[in-house]
Amino acid sequence: MATRLRLNDGNTIPQIGLGLWQVPADITAQTVATGLRLGYRLIDGAAIYGNEVGQGEGFRQSGLPRDQVFITTKIWNADQGHDNTLRAMEASLARLGLDQVDLCLIHWPCPARDLYVDTWRALIRLREEGHCRSIGVSNFNAAHLERVIGETGVVPVLNQIEVNPRLQQSELRALHDQLGIVTQSWTPLGQGKSFDAPAVVAAAQRAGKTPAQVILRWHVQIGVSVIPRSTREAGQIENLDIFDFELTPEEMAALATLDEGVRCGPDPATFEMV
Ligand code: NAD
Repeated sequence: MATRLRLNDGNTIPQIGLGLWQVPADITAQTVATGLRLGYRLIDGAAIYGNEVGQGEGFRQSGLPRDQVFITTKIWNADQGHDNTLRAMEASLARLGLDQVDLCLIHWPCPARDLYVDTWRALIRLREEGHCRSIGVSNFNAAHLERVIGETGVVPVLNQIEVNPRLQQSELRALHDQLGIVTQSWTPLGQGKSFDAPAVVAAAQRAGKTPAQVILRWHVQIGVSVIPRSTREAGQIENLDIFDFELTPEEMAALATLDEGVRCGPDPATFEMV
C-alpha cells in the first residue's frame, strides 16, 4: 500500500506520484484519469509542461473528491520575481480549473538572475491567501536553501531534485533531513541507464520484479517521494506495484555503490533557461 510522507507544515504528500513532463497536451487528461483510476493520488505538473489544462481535466474526469488528489505545479523561470509569480499562479490555477493547488514549487533557482528569494516571498503570500496549501522548491542546492530560509524564516516543505541510482544526492538529502524538507526524486528511473546493472538485475530476479520496480522501490526505501512518468497503462501499473516487496539491506548496499554523481538533466548551479 502506498504511504504518505509528512510535510513540515502539517500536510502530507503521497510517497509515489505520476510525473507529467513531456506528456503531450492532447493525451494528458486521459493519462491523469487513468493514473487516478489505477491508484495514483499525486500528479506532478508544471506550467512549462504545457499540459495543466489536461492535468485539471483528468482530475475532474476521475470523479475523485478534491481532497483525495494531490496536485503540484511549478513557477517557471521566466515568471520569477514577486509580482510575476503572483500572476503566474493565477494563470496556472485558471488552466487547471482549480482555486488551490496542494503544492507549488519554484521550478529552478536560476541563481544568476537572483530572483528566487522574491519568488519565494510571493509563494509565502500565495500560501497565506490560500492559493497553495504547501510551498516548496525544486533543483535548489544547499546555498539556495540556506538563503531562502535565512531571508524569510520559512522552510520549503519539499525540494524536488534529480535522484536516481547514478545520482544519489546523499549529501543534499542529509541536509534536507536536518532541515525537515522532504526530498522528491525527478527522473527517478535515470533514463534506464542502471536497468542492466548487476545489483539491479540480481534484486529484480530475486524479488520477481522488473528493474524499474527495483529502482522505484529503492527510492521508497531511502525515504523520498518519487514521481515516475508513464503514459502507458501497463507502465503506470508496473510503477505503482512496488509496495508488496522489500529490498534487503544487502541489496540496498549494492544499489548504493551505483552512485557516480552523474546527472541526466542540467546542473541547477548554471541552468538559467527562460
Ligand atoms: P522517469 O524517470 O519517470 O522516466 C520516464 C521514462 O521512462 C519515459 O520514457 C517512460 O516511458 C519510461 N518508463 C516509465 N516507466 C517505465 C518502466 N516501468 N520500465 C521502463 N521504462 C519506463 O523520468 P522523467 O519523466 O524525466 O521524471 C519524472 C517526473 O519528474 C517528470 O515527469 C516530471 O513530472 C518531474 N521532473 C521534474 C523536473 C524538475 O526540474 N523539477 C525535471 C524532470 C522531471
